[in-house]
Amino acid sequence: MDDHITDDLPCYGLYINGSWVDAEGGLMPVNEPALGRTMAYVARGSAADVDRAVAAAREAFDRGPWPHTPGHERARILNAIADLIEEHTAEFAELESRNLGAPLRKTTFVDIPWSVEHLRVFAELATIHPYEALPWTDIPSVSWNFVWREPIGVCGQIVPWNYPLLMTIWKIAPALAAGNTVVLKPASYTPLTALMLMRLIHEAGLLPRGVLNIVTGPGAEVGDALARHPGVDKVSFTGSTETGRHIMRLASDTIKRLTLELGGKSPSLVMPDADLELATDGVLFGVFFNGGQSCEAGTRCLVPESLHDEFLERLVTRARSLRIGDPLDLETDLGPLVSEAQCRIVEEYIDVGKHEGARLVTGGKRARIPGFEHGPFIEPTIFTGVQNGTRLAQEEIFGPVLSVIPYRTVTEAIELANASRYGLGAAVWSRDLQGAIEVAKRIRTGTVWINDHHIILPRAPFGGYKQSGIGREHGIYGLMAYTELKHIHVDLMQKRSGRVWWDVLIPQRDQSEEAGL
Ligand code: NDP
Repeated sequence: MDDHITDDLPCYGLYINGSWVDAEGGLMPVNEPALGRTMAYVARGSAADVDRAVAAAREAFDRGPWPHTPGHERARILNAIADLIEEHTAEFAELESRNLGAPLRKTTFVDIPWSVEHLRVFAELATIHPYEALPWTDIPSVSWNFVWREPIGVCGQIVPWNYPLLMTIWKIAPALAAGNTVVLKPASYTPLTALMLMRLIHEAGLLPRGVLNIVTGPGAEVGDALARHPGVDKVSFTGSTETGRHIMRLASDTIKRLTLELGGKSPSLVMPDADLELATDGVLFGVFFNGGQSCEAGTRCLVPESLHDEFLERLVTRARSLRIGDPLDLETDLGPLVSEAQCRIVEEYIDVGKHEGARLVTGGKRARIPGFEHGPFIEPTIFTGVQNGTRLAQEEIFGPVLSVIPYRTVTEAIELANASRYGLGAAVWSRDLQGAIEVAKRIRTGTVWINDHHIILPRAPFGGYKQSGIGREHGIYGLMAYTELKHIHVDLMQKRSGRVWWDVLIPQRDQSEEAGL
């Protein structure tokens, strides 16, 4: 595809209108972070390629069978896609680990099975009849009224790099279940599992032409073009709040439907009665899972002053026992970050924390892993004495950095938890479940986990308060976000008199109708 590429690495084109095609801009390399070297090439799409993909999706929606395909048939296809992923679990998990740097244990036991389960749940939801009859009414006239749900149209879906396959599924499953057509833009760091899935779907001939299209390429070109394209009816985006804000502005020109799942700075509230052993592992899982590269990561740990020293010691001891290294080794807890650029961002925040007066108690520097000298590995890092108003405690870092913040009363802990521009997730660690539920109700985030973290279920709504986003994904809530609501009013009057327009609009009445004949 590109004369300059001589190494024997996989190359992927764009997938448009049921075929693999070249991009006008040639190819771009995809990195394997642990080894710091190119592992594949993908098409470098452009705005012109987005035009082609949107035209295909438009045609498939406006004239193709997909929006009118019965729910049970769409369900069959979503289940068939789930089967394909399940059959190729090992391949998907390895590719995801190599491309993202995430440990193989995590991709094998979380990303892949959760993707499968998500598709199966949306297969079931696809069969829900999109119809609701309203109560009978004779005011203002005798009529039959019902609500119909229809797919929105062409959906532009922009995926981040931190959970590449899972996020792809989170986007395409509800969109396809509801009968929409899709143009998907994977993240440039991690496009490979989405492309592998597309290859399998294509080979199995599962979807009509134009229903699912993939355009890889730089966000500022491809993502931007999708978000502003007049042929796109809805944009769904997961990523940084800054890019989300930009997309919202672009989408506003044509008043597109919008779902945004953005940044977070989730608190982990350790209650005075918490089981400290459980909370230690839980808080560390909350922050270090996926190397801290999760929007819902529990990056602020609120601890009672009275337990601070004991709990901090537990956190530090456990954090130091985590194994950093080869993502393909099943013993590894933390792999490299996704990129050198992301690693530098995290290092800058570690410097910011030091300058802001927080106390670095463990980590704080790169880890050197023999055999992986070019990989961007960062040690699990913990700061304490962090002021909640500082940048360390307020800005999304997206790396393995935990801020420990002491509190005196539970009321203060709740206030600190809520003192954030974000509102995506929170965890409460307590033995008193009833009390923990009361705390959960007072926390302004889209999800609150009690004695857990990161559990995002396909049937439970997921999304953010405040600057963590707009709308909810998953379950019936996520499905509805891919539908337009239509009220159909059927007037049952057999004559002109008695209707609203008889009283309002018709100046000259027929004598016989006035007489009720
Ligand atoms: P972005 O939010 O910029 O990227 C997410 C997706 O948006 C990618 O597919 C990206 O494409 C695309 N994109 C980038 N620019 C535009 C644009 N102008 N218009 C439309 N789409 C665009 O995140 P980054 O990858 O730049 O990471 C920066 C920071 O964002 C991280 O440090 C982290 O804090 C945060 N982040 C948050 C995530 C979350 O889930 N909340 C996920 C990822 C990052 P491309 O990959 O080609 O740039």
